[in-house]
Amino acid sequence: MFRTLTMSAVCAALLSAGCGGGPRDAQAVLADVNEAMATEGLQSITYSGTAQTLDRAFLQTAVASPPWPMYDISNYSRTIDLTAPASRATGTMFHGGVFLRPPTEQPYEQQINADETAWNNQLEIWLTPWGFLRGAEMYGAEVGTAEMGEAAFTTLTWQSPESQTSPSGMRYTVTGYINDQNLVSRVETQVEHVMMGDLQVAANYSDYREMDGVMVPASMEQERAGGTSFTVAVESATANPADLTARLTPPPAEGNGGGGGGGGGRGGGPAPDPADLVRKVYDGVYLVGGGYEAMIVEFTDFVVVFEGGAQNENRGQQVLAATRATVPNKPIRYVVNSHFHSDHSSGLAAWAREGITILTHEENVPFAEMALSNPRTLLGEPTMDPTIEGVEDVMVIEDAMNRMEIVHIPNPHAEHLLGVYLPRHSHFHQADLTLFPDDPSPAHIAFAERVRELGMEFDTLTGVHPAPNPESDDDVLVALQQ
Ligand SMILES: [Zn+2]
Ligand SMILES: [Zn+2]
Repeated sequence: MFRTLTMSAVCAALLSAGCGGGPRDAQAVLADVNEAMATEGLQSITYSGTAQTLDRAFLQTAVASPPWPMYDISNYSRTIDLTAPASRATGTMFHGGVFLRPPTEQPYEQQINADETAWNNQLEIWLTPWGFLRGAEMYGAEVGTAEMGEAAFTTLTWQSPESQTSPSGMRYTVTGYINDQNLVSRVETQVEHVMMGDLQVAANYSDYREMDGVMVPASMEQERAGGTSFTVAVESATANPADLTARLTPPPAEGNGGGGGGGGGRGGGPAPDPADLVRKVYDGVYLVGGGYEAMIVEFTDFVVVFEGGAQNENRGQQVLAATRATVPNKPIRYVVNSHFHSDHSSGLAAWAREGITILTHEENVPFAEMALSNPRTLLGEPTMDPTIEGVEDVMVIEDAMNRMEIVHIPNPHAEHLLGVYLPRHSHFHQADLTLFPDDPSPAHIAFAERVRELGMEFDTLTGVHPAPNPESDDDVLVALQQ
């Protein structure tokens, strides 16, 4: 299948000029690429090596903006059936999860079945060099040119079938960059995301080597929103593995979906009256139940809502409606976002769309601006123009009615996490710092250190994740004794 330098590869050095002098059409480009990549007869492929994936997951990392921390996957092996298409990857990884427990060995698994239709998962196949070429043959590609840095590329662009569209009804677009050796250097597409709008997912391929007669990129890198989210160093590959079915079949009672990075949901189920979800805690202070618990703090001339943008679009709208029902006739000055993790930020669009200023830690502002300003064509929504302001250390909002301190709690779960301290009510409301008193994690210990450092005193601790909490700062400070 493999030849080092073909006539068409020489012609391709002239890029789209081709050998005949005119621009190559898509079929000619595809033929040249398939020849250079030695894909003739390739129906499936297994490749193995070592991989790296995001520490935790996309939008669950310790910092918002890339580069994001990664952890290793050993014994990584992936098999792709290009005809189904279907894919299964396995490996072994060590990690401690979002609460930073001591790392334990855990299986890595990514399963994409032949009946998978969600673009967010299926794109994992189309972004591979071979999936991309198969899609270009099936769905009809258009040829173009592009430059990246110093290099010029021929591009092939194709769209998902009419039956596979985004919420707006648009088909998904896939673009591959073909280098001057007729090898696939990069493939990119976009998928809808409730916070990030048209989220770009791309894969870069380099260091092509012949493996089992096929040209395989020894270096694979996937990016989401411009940051590296997965890498593979390929050591070996097998074309058309004989045990294909076994390689694609998960063991019994397993089968976690793969894909990573969710599009976020819009929630579901019958909607309760938002006003019924609100319970008064003190004069001018309310908690909004029915999901991640938001806190409404009322001032003489305005209100501030902490964590009104969590979970999903529906929840964001629900907390917004609950706020307006509870405190009518006062403008909402800020919705505070505790941190950028997807489950705490996927409802922010509901507030941004209303022109309400989002307050988050200043280190999270650039990422939030990028995310919420992205085009939202795949969702069928207009581009937003969000107003986002940053909190540096402690921001005090105070008048005769209330005093609210928005406090930065640096900790390894999310380095730039905000909580709410209400000194007049001896109350603290936190996100993702719900305590396990007998077994404090590094994040809880960091919280306790901050409580001691700022001398915050409270009799009541509540959580965005409702859970039985210890009642006072003394209970939090116990973490420092362990
Ligand atoms: Zn979190
Ligand atoms: Zn959380």
